[in-house]
Amino acid sequence: MANKLDITPIGEWGFFTLPRPMVIAGPCSAESREQVLETAAGLCEFGIHVFRAGIWKPRTHPGSFEGVGTPGLRWLQEVKETFGMKVCTEVASEKHVHECIKYGVDMLWIGARTSANPFLMQEIADALEGTDIPVLVKNPVNPDLDLWIGALERLNRRGVRKLGVIHRGFSTYQKMAYRNDPGWRIAIELRTRYPELPFFADPSHMGGDRKYIQELSQRAMDLGLDGLMIESHCNPAVALSDAKQQLTPSALKELLEEKIVVRDSDTDLRAYRENIDQLRARIDVIDENLLFALKSRMDVSRRIGQYKKEHNISIIQATRWDEILTGMVVRGREYALDEDFIKALFNLIHEESVRIQDNVLTED
Ligand code: PEP
Ligand code: MN
Repeated sequence: MANKLDITPIGEWGFFTLPRPMVIAGPCSAESREQVLETAAGLCEFGIHVFRAGIWKPRTHPGSFEGVGTPGLRWLQEVKETFGMKVCTEVASEKHVHECIKYGVDMLWIGARTSANPFLMQEIADALEGTDIPVLVKNPVNPDLDLWIGALERLNRRGVRKLGVIHRGFSTYQKMAYRNDPGWRIAIELRTRYPELPFFADPSHMGGDRKYIQELSQRAMDLGLDGLMIESHCNPAVALSDAKQQLTPSALKELLEEKIVVRDSDTDLRAYRENIDQLRARIDVIDENLLFALKSRMDVSRRIGQYKKEHNISIIQATRWDEILTGMVVRGREYALDEDFIKALFNLIHEESVRIQDNVLTED
């Protein structure tokens, strides 16, 4: 069981204005002084107060743009001075932390590749001891809630109380429409365990494409999360990293002001409504996962069909299916699922699977 966290409420950080969503926006990477200042100007104009920009970029392949490094911190200082915004960037080592403190960065975030590494988390936590700088921890790349909580605990034990999280989804081997699997179940679980923890979603890295940002932001709001971190670039087409997923400041303004619906929460029935909305959002997430699981299962059926065809094997092997069904009924019982329901459901799935294999057989 996880330990309690000692958290300073986000309202006391002096960063964000309510109501929801609290927004952090800015480019994936700081690329040049002009790009940073132009983007910040566009965001400031419609009331964004917290600016993000990656200075050191963790890239999958060497040779990609790995960030401008320390010189970019001067541009963030200029954003603070010129627009009065708070600025934040990603840190992945003790050295990054020291540089950020030296240049007056207001808030830090820990990237998904770093929060997965307890050695680095400890190094960063040690470097932050005695400072009062807020830190947002992204989920680890792998869907491991305890690892995420462990990262938070390491910081909290070194006195970081202005602490929050950013949910950006999880890496998957199996390709899906989104760049990262939203895995909302894990976010919901963390939210339930630590309701006081400021909670952001990052629809940019979750979706990997600007066309998904609206639906993912809406989902985050429906689940009752506090804020959004969204990548915004003055000219996304020429961005040196994550070009596909960045929005111009004006597109972001339109998204926030006209597209995302944040449910009203000031009626007498507030608690009821919020609970119902959140439960419904959970159902939607689970249904989406079911759909994806069905799709994956049918993909496998199709491959089995091809394989059987190549080897001249008949489609239906009754004993194999009986075994599966019995197994599912037993497992279902462990989850207190009704036997008739499980039988009906899996027979339907089996029928579809046979239909697909049959199609494969008759194709030439
Ligand atoms: C980022 O925010 O630019 C970033 C690298 O994110 P993540 O750690 O979520 O991949
Ligand atoms: Mn990015």
